[in-house]
Amino acid sequence: MSAYDPNNIFAKILRGEIPCGKVYEDEFVLAFNDVNPKAPVHVLVIPKKDYVSLTEFSQLASADEQAGFFHAVGKIVDQLGIAEAGYRTIANTGLNGGQEVPHFHLHILAGKSLGPMVSK
Ligand code: AMP
Repeated sequence: MSAYDPNNIFAKILRGEIPCGKVYEDEFVLAFNDVNPKAPVHVLVIPKKDYVSLTEFSQLASADEQAGFFHAVGKIVDQLGIAEAGYRTIANTGLNGGQEVPHFHLHILAGKSLGPMVSK
C-alpha cells in the first residue's frame, strides 16, 4: 500500500486550501460536487481522516469511522432526494480501478438512467 500523500487535492480541500461545492459535512465525512460531473448529480464523499483507498479504509478505519461514513452516505442520498429513482456508487481503487485521487472517495451518481455498470 502506498503512503498517504498529504498534498493530494482532497487533502487540500479538507484543509480548506482549495474551495469545494460542499453538499454535506459531519465529524466523519465531507461531501462535495465533483468538479467534472459525469451525471446530473455527481457527489464525492470522503472520510476526514487520511486513507488512500477503499482497501485502507476498510482495513484500517475504526468501526465508528466506517459506520459514520456509511450513515453519512445514507443522509446525503436522502438530502439529494435520489433514493427512490436510484443512483450508483463507485469507489475506484488503484491503478486498474482508475483511481486518480489517492484519498478514498465514494462517487454518488444520479439524476438519469446510468446504463450498464461497466464496459468489458
Ligand atoms: P477517481 O478517478 O475515482 O480518483 O475520481 C476523482 C474525481 O475527483 C474525478 O471525478 C474528478 O473530476 C474529481 N475532482 C478532481 N479534483 C476535484 C476538485 N478540486 N473538486 C471536486 N472534484 C474534483
